[in-house]
Amino acid sequence: MKQKPCIMRRKTRSVRIGSVVIGSGSPIAIQSMTNTPTKDAMATLEQIFELHENGCDLVRVSVPDKESAAALSKIIRRSPIPVIADIHYDYKLALKSLDSGVSKIRINPGNINSLEKIDSVINALRKYCSTVRIGINSGSLERELIPIYAENPSKALSKSAEKWTDYFMNKGVENLVVSIKSSSVQVTIAANRMFAKSTDVPLHLGITEAGTVRSGTVFSSVGLGILLYSGIGDTLRVSLSGDPVEEVIVAKKILSSLGLYENLPRVIACPTCARCSYDVIKISRKIENKLSKIKSPITVAVMGCSVNGPGEAKEADIGIAGGKNYVLLFKKGVAVAKLPKESAERFLWQEIKKLVT
Ligand code: SF4
Repeated sequence: MKQKPCIMRRKTRSVRIGSVVIGSGSPIAIQSMTNTPTKDAMATLEQIFELHENGCDLVRVSVPDKESAAALSKIIRRSPIPVIADIHYDYKLALKSLDSGVSKIRINPGNINSLEKIDSVINALRKYCSTVRIGINSGSLERELIPIYAENPSKALSKSAEKWTDYFMNKGVENLVVSIKSSSVQVTIAANRMFAKSTDVPLHLGITEAGTVRSGTVFSSVGLGILLYSGIGDTLRVSLSGDPVEEVIVAKKILSSLGLYENLPRVIACPTCARCSYDVIKISRKIENKLSKIKSPITVAVMGCSVNGPGEAKEADIGIAGGKNYVLLFKKGVAVAKLPKESAERFLWQEIKKLVT
C-alpha cells in the first residue's frame, strides 16, 4: 500500500543556486560531482549531460588549479544544470570561479587559514550575489575545538558550523548552505541534528568517503535516510567510489523510498529460491535499467513463482510470476495472460511501455 508522505520538513530559508532553489518548501535537490579533469571542459560537459539525463539537479566540479578555473566559463555556458565550484586551500581559485559565474562555491573555511582571505571570498560572494556552501568536516576543525572533538565529535562539528555560519552572515552573506560530514554515520547524524536546531540555514547532506558503490550505498542510505526521515536535509550527495551516475540513481532511490521524490519507477523482485522457474535476477535487472531514465510512478513486479506472485505483488501496476511451463503476466494482482518463458521479458516490456508513454 502506498503511504502518504508523513515527513515534516524542517523550515529553512530558501537559497538560490542558479535556476534551482533549495530550502524547506522546495524539492530536495540531488547533486553529484564530476570526476573528469575540469580543465578538459568537453569531457566534463559530457559527464554533466549524462548526470543531468539521469536526474541530477546540481553539479559540482573540482577547481584544483588555474587551468580548471579557466575552463569554468565554457562549462557554465553549456551546462544544462547549475555548476558549483569545489575549492580547497586556495582562495584565489574561489575568486576566479566567482568571476566565471559559477552558481555556488563550496569552501571549507578550515582549509583557508586566514580570515583576510576568507573575507576576500565573502566580498566576491556579495558582489555576485552568489551562494556558498560552508563545508565542515573533522579533518579541518579549528584548533580550539579539537579537545571537544575528542570528547564529543558531533558537538565540535556542530559548533564549528555555527561559528562559520555566524561569521559569513554577520558579514552580509545570506545565501549560504552548510554541510557537516564525517565518515562516521552516527557522528554525521548527531552533528546535523544539533546544528539543525540552531539555525534556518539549509543543509547539504552527505557521508564523506562513504566507500565503494556497495558500502557507500548502505552507509549513505542509513545516514541520509535517518536525517531525511526526521525532516533534515535540503540537498544531498551520495558519495561513491564509482561512476557519478550511480550517485544520482542511489540518491533518487533514497528520496523515493521516503516519498520525497516523485515519478521514479520501481521494480519489485523476489529474492529467488528453489521454486523460481525462470531467470528473475536477469530480467529484473534488465527492466530496471530500461526504466532508469523514465519518469513514471509505475511499479513493476518480477516474481519467481506464484507463491508470492500476483497476490503478494498486487500493489504493482504490472508484473510477471513464474508458472510451471509459462510465466504469468498480471496487472494489479489480476492474471491477464500466460507468456512463454523465453519471451516473457519482451512481452513484459511491451506492456510496460503502454503504461509509461
Ligand atoms: Fe521463492 Fe517464489 Fe518467493 Fe521468489 S516468489 S522467493 S521463487 S517463493
